[in-house]
Amino acid sequence: MNKNRLFHIKDGKVNTDKKYVLYWMQQSQRVHYNHALNHAIHTANTYQLPLVCFFGLDDTYKDANERSYAFMLEGLKEVKQTLESLGITFVLKFGKPYEVIKKYIKDAQALVMDRGYLKHQRAWRKDLFHQIKDNEDLEIDMIDTDLVVPVCVASTKAEYGAYTIRPKIKKLYHSFRDFHKLNIIKNKTKINIDSDNDLNDIDALLNKLDIDHAVPKSSYYQGGYKAASQLFSTFISDKSDYYPMSSDPSTNFTSLMSMYLHFGQISSLELLERLYLALEQGQIKGESFDQYIEQLLIRRELAFNYVFYTNGYDEFETMSENWAYQTMNAHEFDHKAYLYDLNTYETFDTHDIYFNAAMKQMVLTGYMHNYMRMYWAKKIIEWSPSFKKAYETIIYLNNKYFIDGRDPNSYAGVAWCFGKHDRAWTEREIFGKLRYMNAKGLERKFDINAYVKAMNDL
Ligand SMILES: Cc1cc2nc3c(=O)[nH]c(=O)nc-3n(C[C@H](O)[C@H](O)[C@H](O)COP(=O)(O)OP(=O)(O)OC[C@H]3O[C@@H](n4cnc5c(N)ncnc54)[C@H](O)[C@@H]3O)c2cc1C
Repeated sequence: MNKNRLFHIKDGKVNTDKKYVLYWMQQSQRVHYNHALNHAIHTANTYQLPLVCFFGLDDTYKDANERSYAFMLEGLKEVKQTLESLGITFVLKFGKPYEVIKKYIKDAQALVMDRGYLKHQRAWRKDLFHQIKDNEDLEIDMIDTDLVVPVCVASTKAEYGAYTIRPKIKKLYHSFRDFHKLNIIKNKTKINIDSDNDLNDIDALLNKLDIDHAVPKSSYYQGGYKAASQLFSTFISDKSDYYPMSSDPSTNFTSLMSMYLHFGQISSLELLERLYLALEQGQIKGESFDQYIEQLLIRRELAFNYVFYTNGYDEFETMSENWAYQTMNAHEFDHKAYLYDLNTYETFDTHDIYFNAAMKQMVLTGYMHNYMRMYWAKKIIEWSPSFKKAYETIIYLNNKYFIDGRDPNSYAGVAWCFGKHDRAWTEREIFGKLRYMNAKGLERKFDINAYVKAMNDL
């Protein structure tokens, strides 16, 4: 592992009374290509102790609903099975992870945790650290395994756009192609810790949780590493030749990896390595490879840079650039021909058939094509009484319905619609200098009626 993935937080003193090494899995919910797990196994082997993997399931998590939790639990069920087959104990407990885990720390010689970049993920880890920092015996490490190039290594500041972060990541990323194979745990003793999980019956588990049950599980997408891996193989064999045409919403040429990446059920590094292999074996064309890497490596990692270095990434007043706020202020009171409320959006009942089709895809399946996400958000800007109200509506719907919602990409994608990582365009009504999108563009560029038909058939 590239040593820059590791944040060694503190040393510990060997204490022979300690029973295990504790690995707090939270952001990267997988076994494959998981540097944090690999480091935890290495640490356990060093201390000749067994390894316990802890996951905290918090039903007070913002926007928690049945759709996203079902997807997550499907992935965790696989994680548990695989870890147990490797001789690692898996414990799932209900409650706020950073609080519930404390009980298990007293018997741990070391704590290894993965890294998350959203505000609450950082706060969880910080909060826990402040409570356990005086534990002399406990070694603490944190590992970035969610990105190819960890945010702080790629850049020390908020990047202006893809063009500024691209050269930095391109220069560094080969040195982060650093996962070779999973270590083998030597001490396979099972640790008996009461666990709240019965992952064999996910529906029953979901029913126990106080989450929003009005957004049902998606019948279109199955969570977990196996499903992700299979979809990605299909992407390489059947779709990748057409990836350069994938911006047309009527095609189905994208990889659908965002929801798996969001829960860390598959690693972006694994996707990168599989793409390299496919390229070497002539299974993917150079153009497709380059375009995919641009999304996976540059755009996605720019979003992580954005949430890490922008304190107010989730608030209207602070998520964009000065020029964007100036133009929004100048156009705040422009006349709007349509004003819609949430219910009209959620029942696909606006005058715009393309918007309605996109909204239907979102509500029923939990996914929306990238081009339609842009169009969808731009329309909400056009039909809202203020930019701030538009921002709040977009974030609300994004995080409620998308399986990949509540992600750095969610905040960066939405902020982009308000000028972030974009540039000023010719000034016009309502949008000012923000980029504008209209139905004629969809009709001119794409077979958009085929998209509408496919959504009507859902
Ligand atoms: C208004 C708006 C809201 C968005 N909300 C989300 C969200 O909630 N969650 C989310 O993951 N993405 C979001 N995006 C970004 C993008 O639309 C999705 O990541 C993409 O559509 C996922 O589909 P895919 O995995 O099939 O993409 P593919 O084309 O197969 O791309 C592969 C991977 O590259 C990354 N990627 C692709 N497009 C982008 C992009 N524009 N920006 C950053 N990374 C990208 C993703 O990780 C994706 O899984 C949003 C974009 C906009 C404009």
